[in-house]
Amino acid sequence: HLPLTNVRKIDFSSSHGKLPILKEGNLAVGIPIAEGCDGGCSFCISRIARGRLRSFSEEEIIESTRMMVEKGAREIRLTALDTGSYGQDRSSTLPDLLDKVTEVPGEFKIRIGMMEPENAHSIMDRLLETMRSDKVYKFLHIPFQSGDPLILRKMGRQYKIEKFIEAVEKFRKIYPDGMLSTDVIVGFPHETLDGLRATVKVVRTVRPEILNITKYSARPGTAAYSWKTPPNNQTAQWSQIMSEIHKEISEESMKRFVGRRMDVTLMEEGKNGTFIGRDANYHPVVVRKGKIGDKRNVSILGSSSFYLIAN
Ligand code: SF4
Repeated sequence: HLPLTNVRKIDFSSSHGKLPILKEGNLAVGIPIAEGCDGGCSFCISRIARGRLRSFSEEEIIESTRMMVEKGAREIRLTALDTGSYGQDRSSTLPDLLDKVTEVPGEFKIRIGMMEPENAHSIMDRLLETMRSDKVYKFLHIPFQSGDPLILRKMGRQYKIEKFIEAVEKFRKIYPDGMLSTDVIVGFPHETLDGLRATVKVVRTVRPEILNITKYSARPGTAAYSWKTPPNNQTAQWSQIMSEIHKEISEESMKRFVGRRMDVTLMEEGKNGTFIGRDANYHPVVVRKGKIGDKRNVSILGSSSFYLIAN
């Protein structure tokens, strides 16, 4: 790494009890908007550990955002176990909250954290409207976990897979260059080869730019803990297959941008003295020169499976 110059040290420690301290040179900060979850997923320890949904007040979140932006944050990550359920316990919604957070003065972008498909589907029309603001990345993270209806039922997921696909189609229609991140669990109890095929089919349909693949492992205290799991070597193999399928999808998606120009903000150090910038759609863009915090208009010269390469 080249020595960094002009990087302001940002100390977030005094800001708010709930917020993390960020390392020097990193301009992104996570602001929790809620704790807990009212979902009933049979594999999930988080809902047991953290209890029912408790959304923080809009005022508290807006104030945290204002403080972070004043301290130099350029990316505000609104986080929760399920951001789509925000406000269900206090007559607000995620789009209502976003409308207000985007009014905070300053130069920053908001990254919306993960949301459960049923809740994402129910707020999608309003959410997509709110996302028109320049201050919101055209980025969604909606874990769907499995494409097999039987497995979804066993997982205790409350949606039909068609709703997830419909929500993504709406997003793609309005933001064709936007980024979708999703998660799948491979090797869940009772999963069959047909079940895996169903999940692959959904991956091929929604074509996520980011796919987080988790090999299932039982957590003590969860409903699914004692259920019989498929053999480990099969799960590892299926996970590998999924990963290879996704690599192709992501590679194709990234290639579309080669030859285009885009505005990026340099957010962090990359390898070998480079910097990682983010465009309006949250694509990671490797930039050779500059300094953290710079806004650059760059040409995309190349791409890999998971990032773009600029001049
Ligand atoms: S929606 Fe997420 S946090 Fe809530 S129970 Fe399911 S897996 Fe856990």
